[in-house]
Amino acid sequence: MKLLEDRIRKDGVVKEGHILKVDGFLNHQMDVELFDQMGKEFKRLFADAPINKILTIEASGIGIACVVAQSFHVPVVFAKKAKSLNIDGEVYASKVESFTHKRVYDIIVSKKYLNPGDHVLVIDDFLANGCAVMGLIDLINASGATLEGVGIAVEKGFQQGGKMIRDKGIHLESLAIVDDMDDATGEIFFREQ
Ligand code: 5GP
Repeated sequence: MKLLEDRIRKDGVVKEGHILKVDGFLNHQMDVELFDQMGKEFKRLFADAPINKILTIEASGIGIACVVAQSFHVPVVFAKKAKSLNIDGEVYASKVESFTHKRVYDIIVSKKYLNPGDHVLVIDDFLANGCAVMGLIDLINASGATLEGVGIAVEKGFQQGGKMIRDKGIHLESLAIVDDMDDATGEIFFREQ
């Protein structure tokens, strides 16, 4: 999506360790007009899927997911990061290894909000090694709901998540795919889509 690529080029900051900071419009301050355009693009890309729910993960996925959900006219559920896991039979739970924080945490969703009749689109801000998305897919599978696809704002194409998810036959759409970036020059290279 050219609009998003242009914005990343303009306001994205390449950090050491292959981290792209997009705090000015996506991860801290949020440009909801841009999110609205992204929502419309996801709606176009997943037009054939009978999506009735969006699933994301706190915290940085929530803002985008809410605006995307307006294009689909469906509710958003966000998986919570559980500090101490208190599995009381009322939640679906999975484990996620954080790429940015380098630790493993539990994610949970109440059984009330994911059901076998649901057709779910997973939305997140970044796709790196795919741990966050795979954790969300675990929750969907545990609930008996149907995964309709995964929509990502920024995929880091030089990490394994995108390939892993596509290899499973999952419909994955990333609005911008960064194939390389240089923290010395700040240059960002996008995959042609
Ligand atoms: P994964 O689980 O795919 O390895 O990483 C995805 C999660 O890590 C995203 O939810 C995102 O919050 C965070 N993340 C991974 N790489 C980056 C990055 O380069 N920049 C930012 N801002 N977040 C990232």
